Amino acid sequence: MRNKTVIITAIVCAVVFVSALIFVLIGYQAEPKKEIEILLDGKVLYRGSATLSGEPDYIEAKGKNYTNRIRIDETGVKVESATCPNGECVQMGYLKSPYLPIVCLPNNLVIRYVNTADSSEEMDAISQ
Ligand SMILES: [Zn+2]
Repeated sequence: MRNKTVIITAIVCAVVFVSALIFVLIGYQAEPKKEIEILLDGKVLYRGSATLSGEPDYIEAKGKNYTNRIRIDETGVKVESATCPNGECVQMGYLKSPYLPIVCLPNNLVIRYVNTADSSEEMDAISQ
């Protein structure tokens, strides 16, 4: 009876450990793939890492009428301030999903994730 308990406990521990290991490995592999691109008037203004450790980086997207101040930091990328009339791009906060880009319609600005995996062509087809 006691032996059974020990075996079951050992199996449960092993399962938890392996699950945790897989979880960590998947998370670790997913990190470096996060790349973003910033498009202004359909042209690529910036393409690179979605996060920066240490000092945040700022990119000025100067459109025809308005300017977006974009911030890339440890958390991700967001429009910190903008001169556009509605300010929706600022309200969107950090870029979260590959399917929900940050858009500033008045300034024709798009910030989106770039899928650097093999399915990048598929991703482009969806977003266009
Ligand atoms: Zn805007």
